[in-house]
Amino acid sequence: MAVSAVPTRAKIIIIGGGVGGTSVAYHLAELGEKDVILLDRNELTSGSTFHSAGLVGQLRADPTLTLMNMHSVDLYRKLQQTETPPSWRECGSIKLASTPERMQEIRRQIGWAKTFGLDLKEISPKEAQDLFPLIDLEGVVGACYMASDGQVDPSQLAMALAAGARRQGVQIFTHTRVLEIKTTNGRVSSVVTDKGEIECEIVVNCGGMYAPQIARMVNVRVPIVPMSHQYLITENFMPQDAPFLPSLRDPDNLIYFRQEVSGLLMGGYERTSKAWSADYNTIDDIPANFNNSLLAEDWDRFSDIAEASQKRVPKMAEVGIKSFINGPEGFTPDNEFCLGETSVGGFFVAAGFCAHGIAGAGGIGKVVAEWVVAGEPTMDLWHMDIKRFGASYESPDFTLKRITENYEQYYDIHYPSEERKSARPKFVSPVYEWHKAQGAVFGEKSSWERVNFYATNIGNDALRPKDWLGNHWSNAVQVEHNATRNNAGLFDESSFAKARISGARAGEFLNYVCANNVVKGVGKTTYTQALNSKAGIESDYTVTQTADNEFFIVTGTAFSVHDFGWLEKMRREHSFDGVEITNITKDLACFALMGPKSRTILQSLTDADLSHAAFPFMNSKEITVGDIKVRATRLTYVGELGWELYLPVADGLALWEKIMAAGKSQGIKACGYRAIESLRLEKGYRAWAGEINTETNPYEAGLGFAVSLKKENFHGKAAAVAAQANLTRKLVAITFDDITCVPFGSEPIRIGEKIVGRIKSGGQGYTIKKAIAYAYLPIAKTEVGTKVDVEFFGTWRSGVICAEPLFDPSNERIRL
Ligand SMILES: Cc1cc2nc3c(=O)[nH]c(=O)nc-3n(C[C@H](O)[C@H](O)[C@H](O)COP(=O)(O)OP(=O)(O)OC[C@H]3O[C@@H](n4cnc5c(N)ncnc54)[C@H](O)[C@@H]3O)c2cc1C
Repeated sequence: MAVSAVPTRAKIIIIGGGVGGTSVAYHLAELGEKDVILLDRNELTSGSTFHSAGLVGQLRADPTLTLMNMHSVDLYRKLQQTETPPSWRECGSIKLASTPERMQEIRRQIGWAKTFGLDLKEISPKEAQDLFPLIDLEGVVGACYMASDGQVDPSQLAMALAAGARRQGVQIFTHTRVLEIKTTNGRVSSVVTDKGEIECEIVVNCGGMYAPQIARMVNVRVPIVPMSHQYLITENFMPQDAPFLPSLRDPDNLIYFRQEVSGLLMGGYERTSKAWSADYNTIDDIPANFNNSLLAEDWDRFSDIAEASQKRVPKMAEVGIKSFINGPEGFTPDNEFCLGETSVGGFFVAAGFCAHGIAGAGGIGKVVAEWVVAGEPTMDLWHMDIKRFGASYESPDFTLKRITENYEQYYDIHYPSEERKSARPKFVSPVYEWHKAQGAVFGEKSSWERVNFYATNIGNDALRPKDWLGNHWSNAVQVEHNATRNNAGLFDESSFAKARISGARAGEFLNYVCANNVVKGVGKTTYTQALNSKAGIESDYTVTQTADNEFFIVTGTAFSVHDFGWLEKMRREHSFDGVEITNITKDLACFALMGPKSRTILQSLTDADLSHAAFPFMNSKEITVGDIKVRATRLTYVGELGWELYLPVADGLALWEKIMAAGKSQGIKACGYRAIESLRLEKGYRAWAGEINTETNPYEAGLGFAVSLKKENFHGKAAAVAAQANLTRKLVAITFDDITCVPFGSEPIRIGEKIVGRIKSGGQGYTIKKAIAYAYLPIAKTEVGTKVDVEFFGTWRSGVICAEPLFDPSNERIRL
């Protein structure tokens, strides 16, 4: 008689018993979730975890990730005091700069570490050598040191987390393989294992590199590929009583070290990466029995790393090698984790830790457990959200090309406005060839080629920003900015994500999801935010009512999966049956004609009356331009009179050429996205994932005007009311007189001697002739005229808080 060794029901099932799964289990238990089970097809830690190098560094390029890693350290310290300690050793860490550019990066990191209260400090090469006497200082420019970083035994960490979870009621079943996951009405409903079926409400896929296999059981694509990662351990050679060494990273030479007993562990990121069990044509296919296993040593690929290690630590050339590890680890296309609820209700993923999963595990467990319990993220997790990956990641070729590029640049300095080079072009607008012929320089967003600027527009090079922002800067942007302010600019925004919402209850549905009233009559366009239950801005977009029961939503290029996924979730969870959400991004081109001459230009091509009286701001109509049918919507994201024009892709090139020809005598210029950025910063228009996100509410972001508290109800209303009444911080505009000194994010802000915040976004304002930044500051510090200091690469510079918007405060130009 078959005996089912697993329960028949549990509220939450976690799949995978590595550091990811055990940490999610631990944190769910901490949050009071007792009806949780964890399943592993083999032993705990038998995936990537057991062969990890175990370095734990806290400072990352992303503020959220840094906070998560800080939580990891706090947790590992705490676990060290329990009866199952994870061998946490707070040995500190050193990062060397072997190039001047790296030293700049270190100074910048020291700056923003201050905003977290992290103990990162600059040290001299000699001080680095005092702390790690084995290093040769040849080529070392400088260094930094963080005393609270450390190392941990990865397997013991997973065991400690599992023990903590068990103590609080989580049941763990090893040698229990998940074979199938069932769904009912778009939600997970049960998990079938080789020991029986378990009904459940929520599944958390903590499968590491196996996560894509598991996700395929519910037709969800998780773009993770197992990549080979290698390190070696030397024989013991240091005196037993020598002081324990801090970890050491020398990213310019692609290597890292930590002490292992009285020898060294040394690994690195090879310039030639290698995927395992997947290639450009096939998705991952990890063998069913691959557990507690390693890959064959690949010395050929490791030889450059080994050579670099001997230059930096000459002893490496003398000591014997005790073991060489080649282990597979799940990497994502941008080296960030893959977290959150997928398109299937209740099916979460927490995987793809890209060789920093031990450092991240504590924080990952915390944010994912909170996400599961709250049904929405409790921090801004956009950079790690699985919903950042668009349709192109269905392709194994595209996915692996991106992962390869990112793996091989893991330790490189990434400058602002840097563009990915692999797997391009993927999606293009109908005007792509025209743009190319005119000297367009393209950027890529969510696999779409978009014009950044046209190199043929030659501007003033004297405005090139000092420091990093100057690296990918072009003097063409100011030319395009000025053309839009003075005459007209034509922008190709065909990549905008677009959806049609239809059905008898479409208006009722949207007025529930959106904070603004979006049901204002056919032909009306509304800017709105969709709030989460804490009044955080889950998304923002424009909604146009196109018929009694039909609406047209336009949102940012990168947000289609995220924003339309949120709409799907709201529809499912709040029973708006019959409402249809159709993604029509690829059906329509979109061009924005903006600037004081835009009416003259467009009017010359249409019989429709474009006067202010006949076609007011935030109105939308179907008009004919030449012989092409177009939906024209009068709005702006650059602060000028203008229209966004939506039309079938097939007519795109013809319309673009017509407008350019008609605008020639008016001084029209084809313009790119960099000019939009500069124009919108002057006007103070917010960007989601820039100044606003799920952690910011409309009132502190200065967007309260778009919240209709008059509506009887909408999602997040109670929290919005509370947020309005209890404002603790506010987004402010800060300007700097020197337009070449431009902050671009995370720099610390000081008033007097006190650090009061960090920069959210920044850029150049070519009309106001200043550098601009936005930041959230405590409400008491937001008075217009307040002088602030902002640290740029180790140097404090003065700016001032200014009234918003910085340009055209009376909105005269958009209501012409
Ligand atoms: C060589 C190497 C060095 C590294 N060094 C560091 C470092 O110094 N610092 C750092 O922070 N990170 C490092 N990492 C990364 C870190 O080890 C990983 O990010 C982490 O261990 C991944 O944990 P996980 O829980 O996501 O996956 P895993 O540990 O792989 O766990 C996934 C589990 O899912 C189970 N599973 C799969 N399919 C099923 C199924 N169908 N049913 C049930 N169970 C299933 C597997 O058996 C496995 O146990 C390193 C990685 C490697 C490879």
